[in-house]
Amino acid sequence: MKDSGRDAPLAPGLYLVATPIGNLEDITLRALRVLSQADLIACEDTRQTQKLRNHFSIETPTVSYHQHNESGRARELVERLKAGERIAVVSDAGTPGIADPGAEIASLAIAAGVPVFPVPGANAALSALVASGLNVESFSFRGFLPAKSGQRRTALEELRRQGMAAGTCAFYEAPHRIMEALADVEAVFGPEQHVVVARELTKLHEEFLRGPVRSVRETLAARESVRGEFVLLFAPVAVEEGPAESLGAEVARLMRELGLPEMDALKRTAKARGIGKSEAYRELQRERGSGKGR
Ligand code: SAM
Repeated sequence: MKDSGRDAPLAPGLYLVATPIGNLEDITLRALRVLSQADLIACEDTRQTQKLRNHFSIETPTVSYHQHNESGRARELVERLKAGERIAVVSDAGTPGIADPGAEIASLAIAAGVPVFPVPGANAALSALVASGLNVESFSFRGFLPAKSGQRRTALEELRRQGMAAGTCAFYEAPHRIMEALADVEAVFGPEQHVVVARELTKLHEEFLRGPVRSVRETLAARESVRGEFVLLFAPVAVEEGPAESLGAEVARLMRELGLPEMDALKRTAKARGIGKSEAYRELQRERGSGKGR
């Protein structure tokens, strides 16, 4: 069944409704119609959605649907959908399902034979991408980088291995971690890696910082505080161009600089990279087999 269009009543089904990521003008006419005509709005945070309801005089009742009750609530809502209700899902900002709740209820609804309608609109990653100046022909959305430095390095090193084949990569990043993330990008890809940092998109203080990671990092570091919401984008350079240290080279350096026995140096390296000791050992053997790590 199709969403029945402007003049007909809303068709039964699940509506994944994008909402603004900062600028309230970025709500679509269709989103307003769907939110007003639905039987229920399932919200990531009902207080956040209340602001939208107040601003646009939407009276539809709300229910919470967030990462902590996602599975249980999704099953309840699917029962209501099967009975013919029209339920809209919204997150705090942007497109539901993209680094936000929404995907699970969509797949449960599909499995139950309930129609699922996307109601497109704002999304931080795509907004940043199209204005980044980077290649948009081949890109991937990578969500949030791991919070722990070791795991973040491992994720970035994996991208480095993929090199240009990874295309333009877009990450979400929290304000208190953007500096660390940029430092890790610099460590893995080198100071000349071109990056784009998109801050506060669609808001009053929207800003794009574009350039070599070192200078973008210096620009942000010179500020009193680093605030706002961020999307980080870059197209990884080819493996041969980056200066990242191999695991074997790091182990050898720790042995040399700190006088550690090999196993202790390996343990330290594994910890810093957020991987297990045995995984690090296997990687070391692989590198030795391929002549790397010297
Ligand atoms: N579902 C949302 C979407 O479609 O973009 C993303 C939700 S995710 C939980 C929140 C993250 O998105 C933020 O930490 C930030 O990285 C990014 N983000 C959201 N709004 C933004 C904005 N106005 N400017 C830059 N980044 C934003």
